[in-house]
Amino acid sequence: APVIVWFRRDLRIADNSALTEAAESGAPVIPLYIHDEQLDGRPLGAASRWWLDKSLRALAADLKDRGAPLVLRSGDAESVLRSVIEETGAQTVYMNRLFEPAAWERDAEIAQGLKADGVTCRGFNGTMLARPGSVRTGQDAPYKVFTPFLKALLQVVEEPAPRDGPRTLDGIEGLKTEPVDDWSLHPTRPDWSEDFDWTPGEAAAREALSRFLAGPLKAYGDGRDVPGKDGTSRLSPHLHFGEISPWRAVHAARQAAEDGRVPAKQAEKFVSEIGWREFSTHLLHQFPYMAERAFRPEFDSMVWRDDAEGLEAWKRGMTGYPIVDAGMRQLWATGWMHNRVRMIVASFLIKDLLIDWREGEAWFWDTLVDADMGNNIQNWQWVAGSGADAAPYFRIFNPVTQGEKFDGDGRYVRRWIPELAGLSDRWIHAPWTAPKEVLAAAGIRLGRDYPAPIVDHAMARQRALDALEDVKSAR
Ligand code: FAD
Repeated sequence: APVIVWFRRDLRIADNSALTEAAESGAPVIPLYIHDEQLDGRPLGAASRWWLDKSLRALAADLKDRGAPLVLRSGDAESVLRSVIEETGAQTVYMNRLFEPAAWERDAEIAQGLKADGVTCRGFNGTMLARPGSVRTGQDAPYKVFTPFLKALLQVVEEPAPRDGPRTLDGIEGLKTEPVDDWSLHPTRPDWSEDFDWTPGEAAAREALSRFLAGPLKAYGDGRDVPGKDGTSRLSPHLHFGEISPWRAVHAARQAAEDGRVPAKQAEKFVSEIGWREFSTHLLHQFPYMAERAFRPEFDSMVWRDDAEGLEAWKRGMTGYPIVDAGMRQLWATGWMHNRVRMIVASFLIKDLLIDWREGEAWFWDTLVDADMGNNIQNWQWVAGSGADAAPYFRIFNPVTQGEKFDGDGRYVRRWIPELAGLSDRWIHAPWTAPKEVLAAAGIRLGRDYPAPIVDHAMARQRALDALEDVKSAR
């Protein structure tokens, strides 16, 4: 009987455990993608839909080349699986596991349901360096602190040498399939212009990795913190959709170090960032409540401000703080934002505006091409101070000094806020402090061409610290 390979967030041929095992079983292979709006237990964001559309087309082409056309169906996953099973007589479903809580539970239910009818689901790990739940402390508990987690992770991780994956597949022709076009996954936003410049798919993921190894990785440790520089890998959406495996990324970085192409220290720094990806998904898997509530429960008593206007100004990049606004505009225009700036804008929303981190998480979810439940939730809670191994709550980023420190030459701000381009480095991160004649010479009328700050940082900082005192005394 043929076997089904149920693709989800593993949209690649290489290093794909489920696909490789299925192919090696010797049975004909039916690659299947089920369009299910609730894959993560919540609807896909707009930027993710755009990505998925393109990534599926790339995967379909690669599978077709190998002789097994991708079957695309929409609807409730279990019903779709049952119809394909009925049509083909398949007895086994191969799949790479998803570890997000809702998907995890749903998969277990499906596996049980199919088992009752004699169909076996075989789950593999195709997305994480180590299976969430497999990295435990000496007391057999999940790690809540990153550094010991990373150490333990790197000990348990099996690092299979990258494998190209099957060159040919024994497929089945003639199964009913829906055109991807019918799923209208590709909304476009008015501001997605030439800046929204991504190529989804496995081949593009490999190219992004090679480009990174040949350039930014050499100085990654410092380069990764400068938003005006192309200092990071931009692999995040590729990793999220499983167009490249984390093993391959880690393996390639270490190989580059071994061959003397990059300093070992830089390669290991990159590996540790991939480690943060693991930490995030492992945590969410083991503490599902953190998707909705504070990881550290005392933070649930935090009283947030209801500030629709402030939230809107933040989303649109109109807060009057250039580094914050540049980040929010980069996000809207490109579907991605530099990590340093993600931390700054998140801190601004949570601490300067005292708006619930979940509002920010939801906006990122909709606008990021790399929107990822584990990473997004863990990082938002990290900035909020409510997460595992989070930044201390009282560490409140000053958006002006952050801008001066990490965008000292103003390159990033000038790129995303052209209306400020005429200001010199001295004023670019705090235009409201510039003398009138400086603003006039730069052609800026504050409050008209660019907003005055919507909140005073010193006041807001104190307000946030007071709110924390309330949380502490509520314990
Ligand atoms: P690189 O610096 O090249 O890092 C390589 C890979 O390591 C990344 O692709 C990513 O998979 C992983 N990584 C790096 N930093 C982190 C981190 N802090 N946490 C977890 N994984 C990390 N990342 C997402 O993939 N999806 C999200 O939804 C997401 N939301 C975030 C929200 C906030 C508030 C913050 C502060 C960070 C968020 N990040 C998220 C983490 C990080 O900003 C991005 O992974 C990174 O900027 C992606 O760019 P890159 O691939 O060039 O990173």
